[in-house]
Amino acid sequence: SEVYLNGSWLKTEEAKISVFDRGFMHGDGIYEVTPFYNGMAFLLEDHLERLNYCLEQIGLNFDTSEIKNLVYEALERAGLSNSDAAVYMQISRGMAPRTHFIPNDIQPTFLMYAFPATLEGFENKSWKVLLSKDLRWHRCDIKTTSWLANTMANSKSHELGLNETILYRDQVITEGSHSSIFFIKGNSIYTHPEGPAILLGITRKFVIGLCRELGIEIREKPVLLSEIGNIDEIFCTGTTTQIMQVNEMIFEGKSVFKNCRKSETLKKLQSAFKEKTLKL
Ligand code: PMP
Repeated sequence: SEVYLNGSWLKTEEAKISVFDRGFMHGDGIYEVTPFYNGMAFLLEDHLERLNYCLEQIGLNFDTSEIKNLVYEALERAGLSNSDAAVYMQISRGMAPRTHFIPNDIQPTFLMYAFPATLEGFENKSWKVLLSKDLRWHRCDIKTTSWLANTMANSKSHELGLNETILYRDQVITEGSHSSIFFIKGNSIYTHPEGPAILLGITRKFVIGLCRELGIEIREKPVLLSEIGNIDEIFCTGTTTQIMQVNEMIFEGKSVFKNCRKSETLKKLQSAFKEKTLKL
């Protein structure tokens, strides 16, 4: 298959970067993953807006105006124009002699490719998750390729045969290692407010909008570790995660949340999400 690297489409085996690329050496870069339902873009503008936000936050100058057309070429070249798929893109600072400071005038490295994604049937799946301390930095709103803390966290649940690691910081549940988290309690839904403690999930934002549209009370208020026993239902959201029910949460070797039924509220949200993604 082919990848787009710095202006050319190349066979994967032929696409190469310098060992001095700051993305490779320091994790000095950002990325984005954007979904396509049957070849149709879903929330592409929001993904590109977040990409631009991240570029601005890390002080990287890169013109993203071509990306809107390139994503379709990526799908086409991967033979995914009429499939469920996602496009991965990353921009790293580029190649420069190793320094702690960010050098001036270096050419960013831009990589993009499309891959198949399973976007059907999420409403019939569920996750079991692990609750674990958030060891990441203080700018989780930046979608950085520095993944070490995320992969270490995610591996903890993977090793236990679980689907995701949910993170907490100072007694507050923030988000998953690769998803946002929502809690249903009574007639209200809670999710961590926007800010540097979480990634500003595109699906999170879309689901908050859906709640408002459906007249479901949504509060951007975090849930504390001590409150987990009072929660009725949990779900995670993400670009390929969509709206995933959580039926068990493990914390320090114990099951602290278990639920096998699905409320009308969650059913409504999932079917509204499906409807929106079918009508693109
Ligand atoms: N939080 C983190 C840490 C993530 O990596 C992701 C997946 N990109 C999300 C939340 C969900 O964000 P989105 O809905 O934009 O995929």
